[in-house]
Amino acid sequence: MVNLAVRGIQVCTQCPVCSMRPETTIHALWGCNGVTQVRSDCYFLKGSGWRENTHFQDFFLFFVQILNSEELVLLCVILWRVWFWRNQKIHSPSTVRTEDVVSWATGFIDDYRSANKSELLKVSPHVAMCGKWCPP
Ligand SMILES: [Zn+2]
Repeated sequence: MVNLAVRGIQVCTQCPVCSMRPETTIHALWGCNGVTQVRSDCYFLKGSGWRENTHFQDFFLFFVQILNSEELVLLCVILWRVWFWRNQKIHSPSTVRTEDVVSWATGFIDDYRSANKSELLKVSPHVAMCGKWCPP
């Protein structure tokens, strides 16, 4: 909401989850009390401290430098799930729990990788020759 206010849009900038701080991107995804559990559930997020005035780009670039590619994928899915959790909490009755964010993200990545290894996704020679969908 802070980004909208900076652009002149009249909105409440207070975080709707904790009502304690302005809702910046870094607050929503990292600093909010609502995501404390997520930070403690992920080994590479534990102990990392970020000020509320840090730009999200700086936060993300830091992790790009220190994480391997699999950890970076996990971070992206965790942040995506935190964003989903926030939207659910704010806009609808939520069944998503922050306690489940890291395990959900890990499971999602595993499912995605398994699905991409599936025999069903391999392109048949017939499809490859057509270049477009053909009736069987
Ligand atoms: Zn908050």
